[in-house]
Amino acid sequence: MADPAAPLATHEGHETCAVCAHQGRTCPPDCRLAPHFPADKPKRFEYAYQIFGMRRILRALEADAAGLDAETRRREYGNIGMAGIVYTADARVEDPGLSVFLIAN
Ligand SMILES: [Zn+2]
Repeated sequence: MADPAAPLATHEGHETCAVCAHQGRTCPPDCRLAPHFPADKPKRFEYAYQIFGMRRILRALEADAAGLDAETRRREYGNIGMAGIVYTADARVEDPGLSVFLIAN
C-alpha cells in the first residue's frame, strides 16, 4: 500500500483518488471510483478493500451503473452496492473494533 503521508499526484488538476493512490496508478479525470473513494478518505478504501476485496467493489460499481431492476441485480451481482460498501467501510473507520452488523442491530 502507498504511504498515506506521501503527497498525492495530480492529473490535470484532478487529485488522485484513494483507490488509484493505493494501486500506484494515475487517476484519470473520469475515474469511476473517485466519487466513492476520494483522496481525503484513504481509510474508507482501506477498509472496503479489506472487507470486500477489489473484485466485489468493481462488481458493485458495475451493478450500480447497469441500472437493473432489484431482482435481476440481486441475482446477477449480489445484494451489495457501492452505498453499502461505503457505509460498511465508514462504520469501520468510525470504530474499527465494532462490526457493522452490531450497528445495524
Ligand atoms: Zn482514481
